[in-house]
Amino acid sequence: MERTLAIVKPDAVAKGFIGEIIKRYETNGLGIVGMKMLRLTREEAEGFYYVHRERPFFKSLVDFMSSCPVVVLALEGDGAIKKNRDLMGATDPSKAAKDTIRNLFGTNIERNAVHGSDSKDSAAFEIAYFFNRLEMIR
Ligand code: UDP
Ligand code: MG
Repeated sequence: MERTLAIVKPDAVAKGFIGEIIKRYETNGLGIVGMKMLRLTREEAEGFYYVHRERPFFKSLVDFMSSCPVVVLALEGDGAIKKNRDLMGATDPSKAAKDTIRNLFGTNIERNAVHGSDSKDSAAFEIAYFFNRLEMIR
């Protein structure tokens, strides 16, 4: 079993897609072991996306991620990291495969509906960023 971190981003929360997105995790072998709704401060969004701090899109991304509430999930399943990346689709919704979450619910390359950890190291960092031991069911 492996764990990964997912975020339903502000665009998808605002459009009312929380349920549709979570249904895709639950029906594709990704069990929910932690979940919370919160609004990130600018500082919290900057810390989460620290690896991207030198990228040209960083400031806009931080503005977006701290603009509205998000839903953060710790997901567990066999090969959970890759499974979630496959369910999400490519970063740019217009290039994401048909029926992926970003293809269905994303707006553009920034407002792309969901986040998913991209490696074991980032999953460990990202889950610990949002959840302590008592906030997960196991
Ligand atoms: N992003 C953006 N412009 C870009 C690339 C990425 O606004 O040209 C945003 C987008 O929200 C993306 C996030 O930055 O999900 C993190 O980028 P990354 O390359 O890690 O993509 P992901 O792993 O989310 O597919
Ligand atoms: Mg990434």
